Amino acid sequence: MQHPSFSVYALDPIGIVHSCYREKFGIPRQPGLATAATAFIELLPPYNRPEAVQGLDGFSHLWLQFIFHQTLAEGWRPTIRPPRLGGEARVGVFANRSTHRPNGLGLSVVKLKGIDTRDGKVIIELEGSDLLDGTPIVDIKPYLPWADAVTDAQCGFAPEPPLKRDVRFTQDAVLSCQHYESSTGRPLQTLVIQVLSQDPRPAYLHRRPGRSHGIQLWDQNIRWQANDDHFLVTDIKPVELLHESTA
Ligand code: SAM
Repeated sequence: MQHPSFSVYALDPIGIVHSCYREKFGIPRQPGLATAATAFIELLPPYNRPEAVQGLDGFSHLWLQFIFHQTLAEGWRPTIRPPRLGGEARVGVFANRSTHRPNGLGLSVVKLKGIDTRDGKVIIELEGSDLLDGTPIVDIKPYLPWADAVTDAQCGFAPEPPLKRDVRFTQDAVLSCQHYESSTGRPLQTLVIQVLSQDPRPAYLHRRPGRSHGIQLWDQNIRWQANDDHFLVTDIKPVELLHESTA
């Protein structure tokens, strides 16, 4: 039951994310881990006014507050099993950064690449975000290192960045990356390496080496095999082609 002294607060999205991450699986678990990830925020009316971002271009990093829109309908869970603890031990919802939260709100620090206010739009370009395509943004604030960076902070059960996996490619997969990069300018091979080296598998799948997985980055479907000592990227195809060939 709701506490009588509190109101219900509605949040109005101020922008929408356009991102290289077209599905949840594969997105790094925090921002900054895959710097080749591209995304931009398109501000929505009535917030898409150039004066709303005046002065923002002097900052290198931003705080983004956003809605975990794709998991919102699943509600919140009082405890979760973080991948960091091998998917066995549980910690409280307020002791981790899980998507299943009471208000479905996420928080990320991202690098600001540029702001474009031409043609009646306000576009904010980002580097290294951990946000799904279509994510609603509810606020943007400049990052202030002298106030926000805590150099002697303790990190509980996640004291270090996740260990990185070795990522290898078949010759065909390398050629597909090169072809895609020359026709789009998008750094596909670097992004695949950065994303897969984080080991996106949920903890229970770690126990099944040799298994093949797929992730989508931009409009490409990437198939890879999880071996004990490395991950092998076996095949890269446009998403439409993949659908045609399996229809
Ligand atoms: N940095 C944020 C935070 O701490 O609040 C997000 C951390 S959360 C562990 C990161 C994961 O959220 C990603 O791996 C991705 O699977 C998921 N995610 C990203 N955008 C989402 C969205 N719009 N809806 C649901 N899940 C999302």
